[in-house]
Amino acid sequence: MLFWPVNWAGEQHVQDLEDLIRTIPDYPKPGIMFRDITTLLADAKGLKKAIQHMAKPFENENIDAVAGIEARGFILGGAIADRLQCGFIPIRKKGKLPWKTIGQEYTLEYGVDVIEVHEDAIAPGSRVLIVDDLIATGGTAEAAVKLVQRSGGNIIGATFIVDLPDLGGMQRLAGLGVRSHKLVAFGGH
Ligand code: AMP
Repeated sequence: MLFWPVNWAGEQHVQDLEDLIRTIPDYPKPGIMFRDITTLLADAKGLKKAIQHMAKPFENENIDAVAGIEARGFILGGAIADRLQCGFIPIRKKGKLPWKTIGQEYTLEYGVDVIEVHEDAIAPGSRVLIVDDLIATGGTAEAAVKLVQRSGGNIIGATFIVDLPDLGGMQRLAGLGVRSHKLVAFGGH
């Protein structure tokens, strides 16, 4: 199985970033601890550090494109693409992209949702890095991986600020042979 956890710049940096993330209990519904990264994005040093360390393990991987997942994956993904000197591809919720699309269904707690990418966005064989703010169950990231693969792209990895390890998302990606990287982990949901 292709999985190698990536170490990064040390405990103090992790603590700094963790402290910049605001936790909102019972949002959007009872029992969920919402990890709000807008407070980290608003902090110049925190934002710079997050972008730097999300990109770091992939700097020598010849990434051709970053695929960012709507909506927070766009903010982080654009900056990471600039850092890796590659293009950016938006993965959007159904019905938002203006050109012809390919869609991928994924299961939510109640029902299903669909994400889409432009059918001509990913050059065949291109080396793609998936970006989002947070991985929980991994359902969204798995759908993004499948969408990119169905478009002919080659997934090189996935990078997140936050992992919720109790929900098993990174393990799920490892099961698909995808190398994933996170900066901060929070226990619970
Ligand atoms: P999942 O598909 O379960 O891995 O959920 C990941 C997506 O849902 C990401 O786009 C996150 O932004 C969002 N998300 C899930 N759980 C949380 C949470 N506790 N706090 C903030 N965002 C979350």
